[in-house]
Amino acid sequence: MQRLFISDLHLEAPTSPAFLRFSELLDHESRRVDEIYILGDLVEMWVGDDEDTGCAPLLREVLQDAGANCNIFLMHGNRDFLFGETFAAATGISLIDDPYVLDDDLLLCHGDMLCTDDVDYQAMRRTVRSPQWQQEFLSKSLAERQAFGAGLRAQSKANNANKPSGIMDVNADALSQLMTQHTAKRLIHGHTHRPGHYQERIVTGAWERCGWSCRQRDQVFTLECFSLANPYPG
Ligand code: MN
Repeated sequence: MQRLFISDLHLEAPTSPAFLRFSELLDHESRRVDEIYILGDLVEMWVGDDEDTGCAPLLREVLQDAGANCNIFLMHGNRDFLFGETFAAATGISLIDDPYVLDDDLLLCHGDMLCTDDVDYQAMRRTVRSPQWQQEFLSKSLAERQAFGAGLRAQSKANNANKPSGIMDVNADALSQLMTQHTAKRLIHGHTHRPGHYQERIVTGAWERCGWSCRQRDQVFTLECFSLANPYPG
């Protein structure tokens, strides 16, 4: 079994290096691995499945093309938790829960649920993840939702700039609680932008200067990074 795990691409413009590398990665890896898991924050902002600006149209296309070769699974991140079944049906991908268990003992999550030291963020998360909030939000026009999303992004950037960096990493107690609850031996997550192997935990990196992925070949997990300036190393 070969799998590829990626997260935190924060895709915006379809002409950006990140989008081009993602498109190449999908094309190449979908012929090579059995399953691709996208562990949240695929895009910088998603305000509903009727989104038709930015990279949305091309994103649907490249996912649909790659999905013809292998199974693609998509988990919500804190930027794109409004990906819904309409998007899944249009692209052929499968939405998966956060957290999600594979092979009985491999746990996947986006990672934001573990950042419990950031109390303000967790309060906001509870609000926007509630069905009532989402129903009300999705009933607004696309233009209204896009304007709200742009405001939220600016606010989040300003807030995060003033936060001590430790607060945006995973909390050790929340981590051990989650591992115990799911009797998991290994965890793969993103979100913190701190790629690396941390004991039983593998953190996939944000696609900033480099793109990141975690490749699984049977029980071997390898963190890979590649320049976003050059074509995807295939
Ligand atoms: Mn995130």
